[in-house]
Amino acid sequence: MPDPFARRRRRLAETVRGQGVSDPRVLQAVADVPRHRFVPGAVLRRAYEDAALPIGFGQTISQPSIQALYLQVLEIGAGDRVLEVGTGSGYQTALLAALSANVYSVERIPQLAVRARQALDELGHRNVALLTGDGTVGWSRYAPYDAILVAAAAPDVPHALVDQLAPGGRLLIPLGDQHTQTLTLVRRTAEGVTEREPVIACVFVPLIGRFGWPE
Ligand code: SAH
Repeated sequence: MPDPFARRRRRLAETVRGQGVSDPRVLQAVADVPRHRFVPGAVLRRAYEDAALPIGFGQTISQPSIQALYLQVLEIGAGDRVLEVGTGSGYQTALLAALSANVYSVERIPQLAVRARQALDELGHRNVALLTGDGTVGWSRYAPYDAILVAAAAPDVPHALVDQLAPGGRLLIPLGDQHTQTLTLVRRTAEGVTEREPVIACVFVPLIGRFGWPE
């Protein structure tokens, strides 16, 4: 059966390209992954707008052009092992699953994790492991990671995440207060030194946990 959303998805990929994302693998993933399967029914007709949308429990699915920018800046490779902190709807997880070898994703709100698991299973993603808990401590069991994506805003870089980066690994995280942040790229060199580089101003929901904001 033809997917009635396919045309809107291709148009979204064009919009994302217009926002400065040029990596063809990332644009293909946006054109392929059905975002409408990850948003609640109440906002279904807005699924292919380049906008953040409410997903319940005070959380949002992020703006697609920002999610695509994450993937481009992190240079996600086909062989990469990736840790995601803040599964949310699972949409970004699905993009990561399409671009990398293995995705490990942590979400603190159990109901969101259950919903994400169901959507990812229905779409047949077999390279995704989900954990319910505090992602500010990372997921040591599957470390080290080539890339770590933090989808919520933190006061500083959780050191546990840096510890779980492979040499040459990249971590992308919004840093700042609870109103505005700077998306910041952290690189761990082969010698184990970490370097920080600001990417763009952004606004994310807070990262709540041991190495984030208090509950
Ligand atoms: N990328 C997601 C959007 C996530 S919004 C998507 O595509 O839908 C940020 C998510 O981070 C929220 O679901 C929030 O519950 C979660 N979160 C906040 N603090 C967290 C923590 N310490 N560990 C894991 N998840 C956390």
